[in-house]
This record gives sequence, C-alpha cells and structure tokens, in this order.
Amino acid sequence: MQAYVEALADLFYPQWCLSCDGRASDVLCRACFDALPRIWGPTCGRCGLPTAFETPVCGECKNVDFGFEGVRAPLRYEGVGKEIVHALKYRGYTRVVEKLAVPLLSGTLRGTAPFDAVVPVPIHRKRLRKRGFNQAALLAHGLAHGINAGVSDTLQVVRSTRDQVELSAAERRANVAGAFAPKARARGRLLLVDDVLTTGATLGACAGALLRAGAAEVHAVTLCRTV
Ligand SMILES: [Zn+2]
Ligand SMILES: [Zn+2]
Repeated sequence: MQAYVEALADLFYPQWCLSCDGRASDVLCRACFDALPRIWGPTCGRCGLPTAFETPVCGECKNVDFGFEGVRAPLRYEGVGKEIVHALKYRGYTRVVEKLAVPLLSGTLRGTAPFDAVVPVPIHRKRLRKRGFNQAALLAHGLAHGINAGVSDTLQVVRSTRDQVELSAAERRANVAGAFAPKARARGRLLLVDDVLTTGATLGACAGALLRAGAAEVHAVTLCRTV
C-alpha cells in the first residue's frame, strides 16, 4: 500500500526538492521556491548589491577596481540560494540549470545590451577531472541558449589557486592574479559567468585576461552573491 501511494505521488510530485528533500513537482518544492533569497528592487548598477535607490555605483564598490564593467546576480548567497549552488557544485544537478538558474540569470540580465559570447569561469583541470564537470560551464551553456549568444570556452586556469573561503579581499586578488589565460584571441562584448560572487577577485582576474586578449568589454553575472 505504501509503495502504491508513493508511486501515485510520483506521478504528481516526481522528484525531491533539492533544498529540503521533501517531495516536489519540480526541482524545488513550493515552500522553498517561495523562500528563494531573490534580490528584488533597486540595486547598484555596477556591483549588483541591493541598495535603497537605483544607483550607477554604490559606496561598497566605488573604490574597487573590478576589471569588469559590472556584475549582476539574481539571488543572495544564503538559505535556498546556497542549497542550489551546492546542488550544482557537488551533485552536478543539471536540471537545476535548465529549470531554475537559466530563468533567474536571464531575468537579471533583462534590459542589458546583447553579448557576443558567454564565457564560463574555468576550474583547474585537476578539479575538473575529480568533479567531472565545471558548474560555471553548466550555467554558461544554459544561459547562452537562453539569451541567444554563443559560448566561448576560451579561458583556462594556468596556475592552481588556494581555496578562497578564508581569504580577505586583498588575499583573494593576490591568489588569483595571473591564474587565468585565454587559449585564443577574444573579441567583442563578453559575459563572464560564475556560480557565486564574493569579492569579485576571480571574475576580475578572468576579465583582465579576456581584455588583454582583445575583448572590447567584459560584464559578469553570477547565480548568487554575498550581501
Ligand atoms: Zn523544499
Ligand atoms: Zn556597487
């Protein structure tokens, strides 16, 4: 009887919510979907931080040289937002990309000029071998499809870096300086994609490499950002 009830439930709720492990009709259950830590309302046009009023640059980023033009993120890196990133990063949950990440990323890019290509932030080949995929590349490929742009897998990690979790902003910049290089010339208006924005050091190092390789302009988008 139990099995029958579960089979019946599977017809309506064919999977588990990636955040709370309860039954869900999609990648998230309704409660977790409603609890998505969305960044609504006014944000800084440069760093994407929620602000009291729409502003082209905010107090947090006015003295920071990112190396890219600006960055947007649809979610705060907390609660369900964090669970989604973990599902992507450690479980390679690709349905999350298509069902959740791409609509969120496309939404946050609404109103921006078109991009010539979407560029994933690369991971070191050793890490790629171990994990089997690069979560930024999963996001970039899904997003490129959603916004009608190509994907340019031009960036590679040329020097291994330390885990950044415990590092300060200055240490992070030093940690990733010179860590990325393009495999070919870059051109046009590019959109860098990563899963989480913390200080922008990694995106900045990637943007620098693309600009040196000939890109005209580099923008960035991440699924989550710390606030
Ligand atoms: Zn849930
Ligand atoms: Zn700002």
